[in-house]
Amino acid sequence: MENAVTQSSLGNIARSIHEGGLSKLTVLGIESTSHTFGVGVVRLSSGAPEILVNEFSRYVPEKGGIHPRDASNYHAKEAPKVLYRALSKAGVKLSEVSAIAIALGPGLGPCLRVGATVARFLSSYYSKPLIPVNHAVAHIEIGKLLNNLRDPLVIYVSGGNTLIAVQRRKRYRIVGETLDISLGNLLDTFAREIGLAPPYVVNGVHQVDACANWGEDFIDLPYTVKGNDLSFSGLLTAALKKARGAKGERELGNVCLSLRETAFNMLVEVSERALVLAAKSEVLLTGGVAANQVLNDKLKSMASLHGAKFYTVPADYAGDNGAMIAWNGLLHYVHGVIVRPEEAFIRQRWRLDEVDAPWLPED
Ligand code: AMP
Ligand code: MG
Repeated sequence: MENAVTQSSLGNIARSIHEGGLSKLTVLGIESTSHTFGVGVVRLSSGAPEILVNEFSRYVPEKGGIHPRDASNYHAKEAPKVLYRALSKAGVKLSEVSAIAIALGPGLGPCLRVGATVARFLSSYYSKPLIPVNHAVAHIEIGKLLNNLRDPLVIYVSGGNTLIAVQRRKRYRIVGETLDISLGNLLDTFAREIGLAPPYVVNGVHQVDACANWGEDFIDLPYTVKGNDLSFSGLLTAALKKARGAKGERELGNVCLSLRETAFNMLVEVSERALVLAAKSEVLLTGGVAANQVLNDKLKSMASLHGAKFYTVPADYAGDNGAMIAWNGLLHYVHGVIVRPEEAFIRQRWRLDEVDAPWLPED
């Protein structure tokens, strides 16, 4: 089966669910917080979680950044097709699904509303429980499932978020975060403003990385770490100023190289401090920017310096996807977390530290 989670990657969490007596559950998850409309189906059968399907369709603007209204129109058109593809590939009928999970936030309002409307309809029409899922928590839990982790230091970097988190007293706690834009947004905005056209990632390589290959020399740019938090907006402004004054590929390459190195090194610094203070033995990199090879290499070296093991998430699960919503929905569901369809409101600024995570181990 496509993208099936193997028995060997069976998570500790799933084992404990099984021990709790629930033998077979099938959850359908819907993701539509930003550029992706995704539908995933996850099944827990005899204690083994299996991702039956992870279908998605990604909105790529013709030019500029993601316009929420255009992205939501795209989702509305794609939703029935993605849902149909997911169900046929999984060989599952809606009537056979145990529950519907929906990412209610954080994200872009118009996009969130499309997924929420589809999920509320499916829940009401098929009389299925509806499970509210926080998108950021889902990014973490899918990484833990795929790598069979119990208690990692989490580095979550995406188009909308940049934060370091640890689990404590059955919640994820943020121990460092961006004070302004996200790491993904920094890279994408820089690429856009220097005149590159979307998509900004081609064959798994960000255009800023491709441009950095032209460069050789490091230029000093604002490196802004405040306590354990980060600020990328001054770096963006300064890099754009240098890029506009650059003559030729080599000079532009130097700016791309320096932008990337500065931003990634800032993230490595705060991650390292968090790792040492929290004394974790596992590091998990998740979110769309987790597909970046240079960042993976840097964080892996940092983790090994402190005797910790480094884990990352495969590209199809690193970016926004429906399987992560289905899996996190399943974790909520077995702990009785559901919402009435008429009360399933979207939450554009729903922070991950506001979410109770009853499946987490005691500490
Ligand atoms: P997400 O919001 O989790 O779907 O992540 C999307 C973000 O990940 C966007 O800002 C992308 O530019 C970024 N991204 C995806 N692949 C890469 C890559 N290989 N290197 C750097 N950033 C990436
Ligand atoms: Mg995301």
